[in-house]
Amino acid sequence: MVAVMSIWLITLVLAASLTSSPAVEPQQEKAHHTREGFRNPWPGFQRHGFLDFLKWQWQRLRGRSPQKPKTYDMKWVENDGRALKGHRQSLVITWVGHATAVVQIDGHTILTDPIWSERCSPVSWAGPKRYVPPFPRLEDLPPIDAVVISHNHYDHLDRDTIRKLGNGPIYFVALGVKRWLRRWGIREENIVELDWWQRHELNGLTFVCVPSQHFSGRSLNDTNRDLWCGWAILGPTRRVYFAGDTGYFPEFVEIGRRFGPFDVALLPIGAYLPRWFMRPVHMNTAEAAQAFLDVGARYFLAIHWGTFDLADEPLDAPPRALMRAADSLGIEREQLVVMMHGETRVFSEKPARAKED
Ligand code: ZN
Ligand code: ZN
Repeated sequence: MVAVMSIWLITLVLAASLTSSPAVEPQQEKAHHTREGFRNPWPGFQRHGFLDFLKWQWQRLRGRSPQKPKTYDMKWVENDGRALKGHRQSLVITWVGHATAVVQIDGHTILTDPIWSERCSPVSWAGPKRYVPPFPRLEDLPPIDAVVISHNHYDHLDRDTIRKLGNGPIYFVALGVKRWLRRWGIREENIVELDWWQRHELNGLTFVCVPSQHFSGRSLNDTNRDLWCGWAILGPTRRVYFAGDTGYFPEFVEIGRRFGPFDVALLPIGAYLPRWFMRPVHMNTAEAAQAFLDVGARYFLAIHWGTFDLADEPLDAPPRALMRAADSLGIEREQLVVMMHGETRVFSEKPARAKED
């Protein structure tokens, strides 16, 4: 365990020395822009630094963190992707794993935070490894129209997957993230880089970059240089909210007020322990259930769990905790969509929001 962690830290340091690049020019008038990068502007937000990360790792080594199973009885669907091709439904979502979903909305196919790699890490030989294989396989997917990226962490922005996707899709990213895609061969005209609350229309779909409470960094020297965000995807008949990776914060209500109600909200439910370290940047299930009520959506689709072991709770614990949290807030069980990896769900009910007038 010690060896694994020290390898991991050395890896981060190595990555730091390899990946420095120019910062994005900040716009001082915005509360989340600073000279050094970006910040979470909400009162009460507590930023944890690298020393806190080391403190957490130290507690883990000392056995102060809860014991977890070594293996999990996780079930998944070996989805061959055939059902995703040429469907006529207005909203179909397939959960590949972690924050990766195939969102088919009003005739478009969109990927969220695509990662098909074996590990979410700067290197292929170390770092968190997936517990469940990704289905459908990348090569079995229908043509991808757009990719939305929430932030630059390795479990959300994966170089090898982006390289494989190449210049087919249009990529939607928050400020600063474009530089990574350009480095990996994505053309300028295939990238739309937005600040919070900015929007872009693509073939009748509107993509809105919405705030999240998180942080960014792919090495030790680029913390918060790039912005983090969620995405509201607004079609002529359907609306989806993809929260990315976020702590609980006041802006969920505003996102719902401006763009809701949503047909489906994809909300993260994993990587919440220990609370003292994770609370600012990762919701627990009670907070995720509250966020679901705040944004206003018909269905809660659970993401960011069961795939990479990133925190102290057992990998399969979040769904059970979510059920309890939802019960106590009066959310109906039918509203919770906790899928198996690789599973496809057709949302055939009437749209959550009446047609725009
Ligand atoms: Zn993250
Ligand atoms: Zn994450």
